[in-house]
Order: sequence, then C-alpha cells, then structure tokens
Amino acid sequence: MNIEDRIKQAFSKDGNFSQILPDFEERAEQTKMALAVLEAFTNNHHLMVEAGTGVGKSLAYALPAALWSKANKKRVVVSTYTKILQNQLIKKDLPILKSILNDDLAVEVIYGQENYLCLRRLNSSINYGLFDTREQAAEIDTIFEWSKSGSGILAEYPEPLSLNTIERIGRDSNNCLFQKCPFYDQCFYFYAKSQWQHADILVVNHYLFFANVETDYYILPKFDAVIMDEAHRLEEIAAHFFGIELSNLSILRLLSLIHNPRTRRGIIPRVTISNMKRAELSSVLDECRNAVTEFFAKIQCQFKQNEIKKRIREPNITDNNLDEPLEKLYTILAELVTQEQDLDLAGELSSLTKRVEIVRQSTERFLNLEDKNSVYWVDMVPSDRFSLNSALIDVSGLFADKVFAKIPSVVMTSATLTVNRDFGFLKQRLGAKDCKTLLLDSPFDYQRQAMLYLSESLPLPNEENKFYVGCARTIDEILKLSHGRALILFTSYQALKEVYERVKKDDFTFLVQGEAPVFKLLETFRDDISSVLFATQSFWQGIDVPGEALSCLVITRLPFDVPDDPRLEGVAENLKEHGLEPFYSFQLPQAVLRFRQGFGRLIRNTKDRGVVCVLDKRIIERSYGKSFLDSLPKKLPIAFNINAVAHFFKT
Ligand code: SF4
Repeated sequence: MNIEDRIKQAFSKDGNFSQILPDFEERAEQTKMALAVLEAFTNNHHLMVEAGTGVGKSLAYALPAALWSKANKKRVVVSTYTKILQNQLIKKDLPILKSILNDDLAVEVIYGQENYLCLRRLNSSINYGLFDTREQAAEIDTIFEWSKSGSGILAEYPEPLSLNTIERIGRDSNNCLFQKCPFYDQCFYFYAKSQWQHADILVVNHYLFFANVETDYYILPKFDAVIMDEAHRLEEIAAHFFGIELSNLSILRLLSLIHNPRTRRGIIPRVTISNMKRAELSSVLDECRNAVTEFFAKIQCQFKQNEIKKRIREPNITDNNLDEPLEKLYTILAELVTQEQDLDLAGELSSLTKRVEIVRQSTERFLNLEDKNSVYWVDMVPSDRFSLNSALIDVSGLFADKVFAKIPSVVMTSATLTVNRDFGFLKQRLGAKDCKTLLLDSPFDYQRQAMLYLSESLPLPNEENKFYVGCARTIDEILKLSHGRALILFTSYQALKEVYERVKKDDFTFLVQGEAPVFKLLETFRDDISSVLFATQSFWQGIDVPGEALSCLVITRLPFDVPDDPRLEGVAENLKEHGLEPFYSFQLPQAVLRFRQGFGRLIRNTKDRGVVCVLDKRIIERSYGKSFLDSLPKKLPIAFNINAVAHFFKT
C-alpha cells in the first residue's frame, strides 16, 4: 500500500484509528489535511492549513510525517507554542502513531539546553557551595538524589524548579567542558543529542526552533521538513525572540553571581585570586552596581507620572555609564579564567564573563537603536524593575530568508490563520509568498451546538466606568441564565479587576487569573462545574475545557492591541511608510484572529453546547464589526435579545 492509501485507510471508518480510539469518527477534513501535508513534503513546497476546532489536526499532520519520514529516511520537526499541545503530542498522539506503526517510529522531544541537568555544575554547586539560599541548597540536594535515577530533563523533575536553580545547574554551552568533562560519559545532554540523530520525528517548541535558526541551524540535527503548529503566534514570537530584554534586576543578579558582598556568596570566594586582584574586582563590582543604579535612575527620570512603558525613538536617551565598568569587569574576569586551575570553576567563570559581555553589548545596541527594523522601549513593572526591550517590526524577511529558503517544506497550521476566510494577512506578515493554502472548516454543528449573543445596550468600552458597570450588570444576568459555568475574557487586567469587583459573588465559585497558578485555576474550573473564571490575555488561546464547565464564554471587549503598544506603533509606522493603512492591514486582522481564538474555547467536541456573549457593541455598530462576524462559523445563530440566551440554556 502506498503512503496515500495508508493515510486514507488509517482515517477511514474502520481504519487504524477507529480500532484504537473509542470516540474516533471519520472526518473528510482530517484525511484531506493529511493528504495535503503529505503532498507538501513529497513535492517540497510550503503549506498553510487552517483546520477548524475538531478536525483533529495533530494526527492529520503527524501520520503523514511519520509515514513519509520512514519511507524516505527523512526527518521531520514538529514545533509547538504551548506546553499543553506539546504534552498532547508526546503523551497521546505520537504514542498512538507508534502503536499503529508497530513501534517503528523514533520520536525525540528536544528541550532548550538549560533544561538538561549538567552533572558537573550540580556537583560543583554542592562541592563549592554555589547556591543563593538554604532553600536552594536543599533543592539542589534533592535534585542530586533524583539525578541518580531521573531522566536528567529538568522539565520532568516532579516539583516546579525556580529559574535561579535551573540557571545554576542546567546545561550552559558557555561553560560546558565537552569531552574534557569528567561527567561526559554520563552527560544527559550529550546522551540526548546522540539519540536525536536516530529520530524520525523531533518535537520542539517555537523558541527552540528560532534558537536553531539564530545559530544557523546548529542546535538541531539536520531535518527535511517542519510542521509549525499554533502558527498564528509565529510573528509575535519571532519578533520578540530576536529582540532584546535586559532588566536592572537581571544585571544586578549577574553581579551577585560573581560576588554578593552581603551574603558573601558567588564564584569569587571560591577561585584562586590574589588579595590585590580581589580588592580591585570588589571595587569594579561596586562601580558596576552604582552604574546600574545611576543608569536606570536616569531612565526613570524620563518617565511621566503613571507611565509604565516608554517608547524610545532617539538614540542615546542617556549616557552609557555602564560600558566602562562592565568592560573593566570583563577584563578582570577573562584574566581569572586563564589563571584558574580548577576546570569547574574556570568553566563557571568563563560563562559569567561571557554574560557580562552580552549585557554590555545589549546595552550598547539598545542605546544606539542599532536595528532600523526594531522598536525599542523601556518597561517599568513594578516601580523598581526596569527593562530595556526591543522587538522586530517586520519578520517577513527573516522568515523568507532564514526559514522558507532553507527548509524544503514548511507546514504551518492552526485553527485560526484566516481573516474573512482569506490567508492573505498571515502570508504577507510571514513573507510566505510561495505557499499553498488549505482551509478546512470545523466539523462541529454550530447551528445546533452554539449561539452568539450580541449585547446592543452597553456603553462603548471607551466610556470606561459606565462600561465596567454595564458589563458587571450584564455578566450577573448571564451567569444566572448559564448557572455559572462561564469563562469571562478581558483584554486587560485592569478591566478584569474593575468588572470583577462589581459582579455579585453569592452563587458560584469565582476564580480570578493571577490568584493561583494557571494549571490550578483550570483544574478547579473543570472540576467545579458551576465555577466562573475571570481571565485575560493567555486564556484567549490554547486552553481546552471540554464539557459542561465551559458552557458560556463572555468576550467583554474586542481584542485590539492597546494603541500605545510599542511594537504595534512600530508596525503601524512601517505600514504607513509603505502606503498602507495600519488599522485595516494589521490591527483589525490581528484582532479578528485573536477573537476567533477566544471564540474557539467554547465548543471543544461534538457533545459540547454553549453560548458566546460579546459585550462590545462595536461589533454591531462599527463597519469593521462585520470582519469579526464574517470570520465565525457560517451557520452560527446570532441573538440580540438576552431572552434567547435564557431559552438556549433551558433547551
Ligand atoms: S559535558 Fe557539559 S553539559 Fe555534560 S555534564 Fe559536562 S559540562 Fe555538563
């Protein structure tokens, strides 16, 4: 049987999947997607597939990837954005495929290098007391025990680990001793790397994919095709990945890792150093600390009252008083690296030295506004944390030259890639000129399973106080009809707080984003059926709550980016320079994609039923509202009277 026939057979009514998955239903869209992916691989072309919720897109790309890679001795990378999807692939979809292929499929999950426990650094931390607090010392001891039988992948450690600990004992290419390392034969990272070479399918996340692009394809083994799932996030992730993020606290922390005079911790007390050099280093570290304080204080002076984000348009907003002390520090550390006899300590020192240089260079790049294709800004959150940031304005050239031109077949997929059923927006933003497209509607019966309620009576969102009062009143009314079971989505935390405080809280369990970890909130939301979850940004996409617990979705406001977002400003200016109207060519399509993602949280399987309520009347009153409505499933019933919501929940 050729691959095409095997795909048709596997997805057919009595095929492989129906024998393994009790709820499997044959779906023409799923087979169509799988065949299109196979065709893209076979003929070396790029493809965008929008697969509506319920198509079963992960199996639809994973099966052709598996069969094609096995038949042609090729390797396919699957890249995802969220951990939820990555876990679904690793724990569910790929094991199913393996069983269909009689275990003849080698799959490897690759994490960022810092996620692999470095045994040398772990042992050095214990031997030299390289930890920040007693709690961290205890944590490191437990990790030591775990390392004897565990996988060495820190993401699989049974407890969540702090970033500081990961930074302390995770693999770091800057201080890795490679073959000279006494732990090389047991090294988790190099063992994993040796396995990657034998894999048919590699699973990564988008950050690692871009890190591979940044290092000119050095990190991952050679591959022939990539599937980018959750592709609606690609522009945003790439724009920030290739930018700068440097905070005053991260620089001070780096200085503490070298030496913290208060706790007397850091690397310096452990290394061989003359008294004279120690005194010199100590004075340079003080100079660096003072320079950091002075540098960020000068930036703070330029913030207006209540300003938390400041776009930087002119180079050299302040003098670079960091450059000289950081350079002095770099020189002293580099000298110590060459003198240190202990390989472990030399490695740690070398890594810190490189990090000092990265900070120096990033500050310089930031102050010079070096890249014309970037926007630069300073964030202040909360009042004592400042960060220097940049993001790319236009990623299309980067994608065209470094992704599409280098990989024979790039398949991008998501449930939301089109605006008004057109791929033009995303193709243009990602520079995907020669790219085929395929649009597959959701197989769900939206006419029967769902309803859209549009509120006409609330004030416009820009009449803030009146809008919040109206929202709270309408949400009270809706929750009575839906018996809780609702997810209320906001576009800002401020709006969430304003409305939440006004909503009556007598009848249901109320959950609020930020008051517990996301996984805990979702667990309670699923288990306590009538609970109500108030959430913002990250809950608009990627969360999966099938069943009764999410029977009502309230979208309080159309999800436009805030107008003073620095990247949005930069993109808008760039579009104007090219004679395009930013609202219609960027802000609106972007908001429509986000709106569709939010909408997609409601119906997750054929048994789900529910109502989406939109409280922002611009969707009815503004001409652009049609773009939002036209992007929703065609037969979705629309109601303007809240009695229809009552009727829906009664039937
Ligand atoms: S080889 Fe490198 S990553 Fe592995 S244990 Fe040694 S130093 Fe750490």
